[in-house]
Amino acid sequence: MSERAGRHASEDPGETLVIPAITGDAEPPPERPSTGRHASSGADRDRPAGSSLAAVPPLDTADLTTGRSAAGQWRPPPVAESSLPRLPATNGHGLPHGQPSPDARPGGDPQPPEAAASQDGPAPDRRERQRGRGGREVRLVWVYPDLLSTYGDRGNLLVLTRRAELRGLDVAAVEVNADERVPADGDIYLLGGGEDLPQILAAARLRSDGGLQRAAESGAVVFAVCAGYQLIGRQFGGVEGEPVAGLSILDITSGRGERRGVGEIVADVDPALGVPRLTGFENHQGVTQIGPGARPLARVALGVGNGDGTEGAYAGNVLGTYLHGPALARNPGLADLLLSWAVGPLAPLDAAAENWARRLREERLAATSS
Ligand code: GLN
Repeated sequence: MSERAGRHASEDPGETLVIPAITGDAEPPPERPSTGRHASSGADRDRPAGSSLAAVPPLDTADLTTGRSAAGQWRPPPVAESSLPRLPATNGHGLPHGQPSPDARPGGDPQPPEAAASQDGPAPDRRERQRGRGGREVRLVWVYPDLLSTYGDRGNLLVLTRRAELRGLDVAAVEVNADERVPADGDIYLLGGGEDLPQILAAARLRSDGGLQRAAESGAVVFAVCAGYQLIGRQFGGVEGEPVAGLSILDITSGRGERRGVGEIVADVDPALGVPRLTGFENHQGVTQIGPGARPLARVALGVGNGDGTEGAYAGNVLGTYLHGPALARNPGLADLLLSWAVGPLAPLDAAAENWARRLREERLAATSS
């Protein structure tokens, strides 16, 4: 392992990892929230992939930010603001500061409140809904980009959109901020990483809203990164390490480790999933234990991950990881796994379409090998 990339590697992935000290404990800066709110795209706007990085036409990210309407005019339901935990004052960068929401319930019951699951009644079965749309439209929900989106995690939304379009699927993507209701009828929900206070607030709001839990219960795909990964579990560590209740849609429990894990991470995926070696970037204080209701996503070859030699977790259609990168840009096999969970088996893409992702993977994996 090279020194520049592997400062917290374990030679034996089975041993307990001790995360080395790093200087400073600054949290990553957040991304600015997207100005666009809703987006959709169709297979008719496929663009050919180029033969080199320079020649690859950029993704038409405007598609995801101009508010072009979806095929079915899909919109999240209007929010009843009074039903949600209140946002604390912001610090001028869109970030809350000061006291977390009272609903953050540090140290509280880690189970979701009863009320959260009954706001709109049970969600209809996701597979039936997707079939009802002809099986050709996939609905993506980018959850709380105003609170949870570090290190370009929004790229996960772009990659899923692109790879779905290349399969001839219509994509309806919606970005749901923390003052909006989370629709329960999406096909794939994406959550990114975040700083401690936004993470606590996001957990409180999502518990109160209930839409994400209902979607997960009805079989929607959930892909959550770092802070998002921790908060879909039973509980996670707050600012001082105090237990904060999560959504309990994945059987994991997180706390705060002694030191931050920062750097490149490489991990070998559970063979049952058929996804090549993962490459990513991690920056987190949290460590995660996987309960009997979930399985490790991967075994760490370099880096920290969950802190016990494993990385990420999955159960049913819910999958979480500590990987940024963005994870799905570096690991298109993982993107296709999520898409296949939502819409069924996918045809492989041709080599030209994979060129950009292949080069990125090669470059990153080479940077971490000795
Ligand atoms: N705040 C969490 C932690 O430090 C998650 C950080 C992140 O999402 N990068 O563990």
